[in-house]
Amino acid sequence: MSLPPLRAVGAPGAQPSGVAHDVAHFLRPGTLRLAALPPLSLYLHVPWCLRKCPYCDFNSHAVPAAPRLPAVATPQGGSHRAGEPGPGATAPRLPAVATPQGGSHRAGEPGPGATAPRLPAVATPQGGSHRAGEPGPGADPFDRPSLDTGMASRYLDALLADLEASLPLVWGRPVVSVFIGGGTPSLLHPDQVARLLSDLRARLPLVPGAEVTLEANPGSFERQRFRGYRAAGVTRLSVGVQSFDDAQLAVLGRVHDAAQAHAALAEAAAAFDTFNIDLMYALPGQDEAALARDLDAALSHRPPHLSVYHLTLEPNTVFATRPPPGLPDDEAASDMLDLICARTAAAGLSRYEVSAFARDGHRCAHNLNYWQFGDYLGIGAGAHGKLSFPERVLRQVRWREPAAYMENALAGRAVSNQHEVARKDLPFEFMLNALRLREGVPAAWFGERTGLPPSAIAAALQRAEQRGLLEPAAGGQLRATARGFDFLSDLQALFLPG
Ligand code: SF4
Repeated sequence: MSLPPLRAVGAPGAQPSGVAHDVAHFLRPGTLRLAALPPLSLYLHVPWCLRKCPYCDFNSHAVPAAPRLPAVATPQGGSHRAGEPGPGATAPRLPAVATPQGGSHRAGEPGPGATAPRLPAVATPQGGSHRAGEPGPGADPFDRPSLDTGMASRYLDALLADLEASLPLVWGRPVVSVFIGGGTPSLLHPDQVARLLSDLRARLPLVPGAEVTLEANPGSFERQRFRGYRAAGVTRLSVGVQSFDDAQLAVLGRVHDAAQAHAALAEAAAAFDTFNIDLMYALPGQDEAALARDLDAALSHRPPHLSVYHLTLEPNTVFATRPPPGLPDDEAASDMLDLICARTAAAGLSRYEVSAFARDGHRCAHNLNYWQFGDYLGIGAGAHGKLSFPERVLRQVRWREPAAYMENALAGRAVSNQHEVARKDLPFEFMLNALRLREGVPAAWFGERTGLPPSAIAAALQRAEQRGLLEPAAGGQLRATARGFDFLSDLQALFLPG
């Protein structure tokens, strides 16, 4: 099954965008019965990167040249995957599922892959050079390649307009977490992040101590910038490293090197109580020894959280048309995953989700809410959202192109497409997410969060148990067995509509 197609606004049968914000429309009688609304998170998308990585299918666009930037951009990378229900498994490919970032991933399967020319080592805006992680002589500590101020300001205005137009749909609901993802949100200046978070807090009730994550990339001057984000209200940093191997980073088209990654992580650890490192595995030409070196490098920073994604070739990427040579086969990738699990466990991180490993108390609250089939309001270019009402579940997507998004959001029309999730699709959507969690979810949540009776999945549960893929549901928890977790796509596929 694939998710019901989103209907383009203006297309035959489509809902006019104004309907997207008409709360009465979504409160009318329907066929579902949600006993209570699930927790609500907020996702904010920043759609620009210094350049597009060849494996990336997220809604990210090379940043337009800003007048104050040097001709050649300084090294700085992008991150990916945090803030979404990620990758991770084997078996038959399941339908693509939209991510809040506006990309897609395959259920139970890992992510992306890459090549491209590299940018030169390190060049300051002043045209000099400096060591990674240190400002050059006379440099403004915040003055590294970023968005043009005027464009950033207009984008923040659009985000605010988008949020304000969406408020009636989430009125009175507390927000349990915020995730600023991309793209490369660390292209925003800390002052801009402060403005953004201040605007949010003035309009939405964030629960006390709410997790506020920002995706950042290795580059120069992290010390002041990361601390600036902390001062702005960010509580958690997710650093997109992908590899510590310079040759591999070049193949992946990343614009940072290993030294910059190490410097960024040292500063992240100094500035934040909790942070995440994004890594990828099954990279072109990678063997277990090379992966072990990457893991050792990552673990040397004692990360509270580690996300490790399998490189996959996604449609509509450079790698899809020109795959890099030397990609490990499935068997080699499976052995690599075993190595990742062993090394992370030895370092005190438990695998709580297909691709996520954390120390006690450091699981990502925002991503957990996705996997637990919670709600999320997605704001920004191409952002996806899921919002529940007493008798329906709504999915929305915003205009994808940054210019179109800004123009429409500022005119009160940020939503480009929306649809109510069909009854027949809800079991798969719920299980697709919930079964990614090693501990699963309470069985009662199925009814609470889909509005469907237990009979809607009774037959599939029985088949899954008979095949040894699911723990007996009588235990009160919907949880994959060890075998089911290894063959997650097979297990999830049992819940596809007939
Ligand atoms: S930095 Fe991240 S979001 Fe940007 S293009 Fe690369 S993988 Fe995609």
